[in-house]
Amino acid sequence: MKLLVIGGGITGLSAAWEAARSTEHGPVQVVVAEASERWGGKLYTERSEGLLIEHGPDSFVAYRPAALKLIDELGLADQVISISGTRTVYLRSRGRLRPLPAGMGMVLPTRLGPFVTTGILSIADKLRAGADLFLPRQLRDGTDVTIGAFLRARLGHGIVQRFADPMIGGIYGASVNELSLDAVLPSLRTDEQAHRSLMLASLAAGRRARTSGPRGANSPFRTLRDGLGSLIDALVTQLTDAGADLRLGQAVSSVTASDGRSDVRFVDGTAETFDAVIFASGVTATAELLAEPAPTAAAALKEIPLATSTVLALAYPSNAFAEPVTTHGWLEADPAPISGITVSSAKWAGRAPAGTVLIRAFVPGRLGAIADAPEAELIAAVSAHIAAVLGATTPPTQVRVARWPQVMPKYTVGHLDRVAAVDQALADLPTWRVAGSPLRGVGVPDCVADGRRQASLALAAASGAATQVGSPA
Ligand SMILES: Cc1cc2nc3c(=O)[nH]c(=O)nc-3n(C[C@H](O)[C@H](O)[C@H](O)COP(=O)(O)OP(=O)(O)OC[C@H]3O[C@@H](n4cnc5c(N)ncnc54)[C@H](O)[C@@H]3O)c2cc1C
Repeated sequence: MKLLVIGGGITGLSAAWEAARSTEHGPVQVVVAEASERWGGKLYTERSEGLLIEHGPDSFVAYRPAALKLIDELGLADQVISISGTRTVYLRSRGRLRPLPAGMGMVLPTRLGPFVTTGILSIADKLRAGADLFLPRQLRDGTDVTIGAFLRARLGHGIVQRFADPMIGGIYGASVNELSLDAVLPSLRTDEQAHRSLMLASLAAGRRARTSGPRGANSPFRTLRDGLGSLIDALVTQLTDAGADLRLGQAVSSVTASDGRSDVRFVDGTAETFDAVIFASGVTATAELLAEPAPTAAAALKEIPLATSTVLALAYPSNAFAEPVTTHGWLEADPAPISGITVSSAKWAGRAPAGTVLIRAFVPGRLGAIADAPEAELIAAVSAHIAAVLGATTPPTQVRVARWPQVMPKYTVGHLDRVAAVDQALADLPTWRVAGSPLRGVGVPDCVADGRRQASLALAAASGAATQVGSPA
């Protein structure tokens, strides 16, 4: 059995890991073809002058277990770290940094007291949010809507602008005014169905959590001591040891189905035949590869809009700030040239040497012109904003800019229909599986889980196909 994985990001390497360890279908020869000269795709850790800089993701959530399970299998469990100190999330709202009220979820409070007294919302916004307690159900049928429109109807504009958009938009790189309720936060629909009021549903969930578990919100975020790049390094080393054929700088140029197998051409002109193929190559490249052999699937993929994101890493000497920088960062609910900041040196151990403050600032495409500004202009705007909020008196001494143009899939209204369309269009080609962030979750744990699942499905389909081809009937 010969399996090709297209793309050496976390999805592709997880798919390869699953296939290399599987014993169910006999020995599997695994090939991973990565177009670029670096493994990891969006997972990209750089070590420079004592700094540990994450250019892509810097952590993952622990409540989706797939990433921790993989880390455990790779023998890296003792490398997992949680945030340093106590978790305090800040929002910059109404002109000041203000702590997220205790018990606040992504959108809704699980405790009423801290929500009533927070300065993040105006009194008018709080009164409008309270109307949710009395309003009838807003979702009349199963039609998908934007998260923004639904929350605005129930809780008003203040909640959308000052909580939902910074918190959810920050994760998905897109505004809640375009993100799909059913693909991104389906629990809001079920909460309204069950409780009518979202506020009552959230307060009830908070009461249940407080009676069943210990008090205090531990951070759900985890990372690795040497950065997420060490997960990629371990995968590459252990896959190679297991006999997988890992090829850097080898882009796939076409895939064609032929007699239950797949003929694959690489850009260097070589060709090979495989029993199964995992497309872990992101929206654009996968749509291009499927354009001829599976045009309906390619068309559905092309309908997935893509977001651009830029991450700046800025290092300052500690004495550049009048006060020690102890915050882990903040999200912007006020107009700003960034969507938020992580103070990596305060949040995680080992990110910067003593005496250095390392900051990650995010400039999503949805902020408009600033996201496309030339590098010098971008750095000037972001450092001026940091200086204004944190009181930096000198500019950063080191800056790195990572641009991720048009690569983050946006799960906008109708996303689940697009996922179903891709699945349906590929139903006749069960040994071809599209995996990773384009369809079923953008987070690192989602990509790990989906990569592994699609590899299993591809191998099962290929072994079924092999049995059929080889059977005397
Ligand atoms: C700035 C940023 C911050 C993020 N922060 C977080 C975070 O903190 N936590 C979190 O959980 N998630 C985060 N994410 C999301 C997460 O990083 C991604 O969804 C995930 O890494 C996607 O992995 P992937 O393997 O599916 O795709 P990719 O990493 O994009 O890998 C796809 C690979 O396919 C290769 N490829 C493309 N075409 C071909 C071809 N024809 N032949 C061969 N190879 C090809 C590409 O070169 C690439 O290496 C972040 C994303 C970004 C951009």
